[in-house]
Amino acid sequence: MAEPATPAESAPEPIAPLKPKKRSRVAFYSVVVVIILLLAAIAVPNFVKARTTACKNACIANLKQIDGAVQQWALEHKKQATDRVTTTDILDYLKGSALPICPVAGTYSVSTVSSVPTCSDALKTPGSTHSL
Ligand SMILES: [Zn+2]
Repeated sequence: MAEPATPAESAPEPIAPLKPKKRSRVAFYSVVVVIILLLAAIAVPNFVKARTTACKNACIANLKQIDGAVQQWALEHKKQATDRVTTTDILDYLKGSALPICPVAGTYSVSTVSSVPTCSDALKTPGSTHSL
């Protein structure tokens, strides 16, 4: 049977204070970590903003492509400005015979020959600038 531990045996050993050389190393790494966190705090919002701008520009380029297809279709089929157009009408005038895909998963729609095509992201996201 084991003897119960005496208070002197069970007490944790006191933590030895860091030597001056180790202390300065810890301070150095702390400063490095703080600088890295500071740079990340500055860079991340800019990355997010750049990504948002790139998505917006890609969507606007897609809308221009769709608008060009609508105008070509209207010209070839002698349509008036108020005539209705569907996405299936213009597929032959788009690259790959398919509607382009919005980078933020919006869907494109067309209504009449004279109106500009729209992205659904502009309707569902307040402040979205996915429009011509
Ligand atoms: Zn879009």
